[in-house]
Amino acid sequence: MRTDILGVKVDRDSMEDTVQKIQKAVEAQKTIQVVTANPELIYATGRDVRLKQLINGAEIVTPDGVGVVWAAKRLGHPVVERVTGIDLVEALFPIAAEQAWRVFFLGSRPGVAEKAAQRVAEKHPGFQWQAAHGYFSSEEEPALLMQIREFKPDILLIGLGAPRQEFWMFSHLDLSTVSVGVGGSFDALAG
Ligand code: UDP
Repeated sequence: MRTDILGVKVDRDSMEDTVQKIQKAVEAQKTIQVVTANPELIYATGRDVRLKQLINGAEIVTPDGVGVVWAAKRLGHPVVERVTGIDLVEALFPIAAEQAWRVFFLGSRPGVAEKAAQRVAEKHPGFQWQAAHGYFSSEEEPALLMQIREFKPDILLIGLGAPRQEFWMFSHLDLSTVSVGVGGSFDALAG
């Protein structure tokens, strides 16, 4: 059962269970969206019913932040642990490498997603990747969408900042089997 924080339904699964769910979705080629729900994102849904509906429609909504873990406990439905975007992607890369997944890194300033992908691929060789920055114009977007569709990712990591990445993800459900909003994770992974 999910915990309800200000109307946002947040999963109570551990990191391990979350990773397993994602792996199963890739294996079954089942399209899913993953939202890492930090307090700012949950707070933003108070001003935006559409955002709340989108998040509540995601297959996986992880508790991303000590505030969320605390709130869940106070509400009597404690979560197992905090599941942040960066920790989640780091847990996924060894599996991506082992299973030779196709991973698309979208977001951050030009060059950062490539650098993040290169560094991760050095550490966990075996997955295929492409990357693009997150400062594309509306004129550039069709070419970007075509690039992603042609690549056919198993996992699309979207680091455009919340809540833009969530709106973008739910507007483009056909791009990837699994889509994950990862915030500023590429900046951290690029070092
Ligand atoms: N970003 C982007 N395109 C934009 C605005 C932001 O790719 O138009 C990127 C930005 O470079 C950063 C990430 O989105 O890598 C947002 O990171 P932040 O930590 O601010 O967001 P959060 O993790 O809080 O969602």
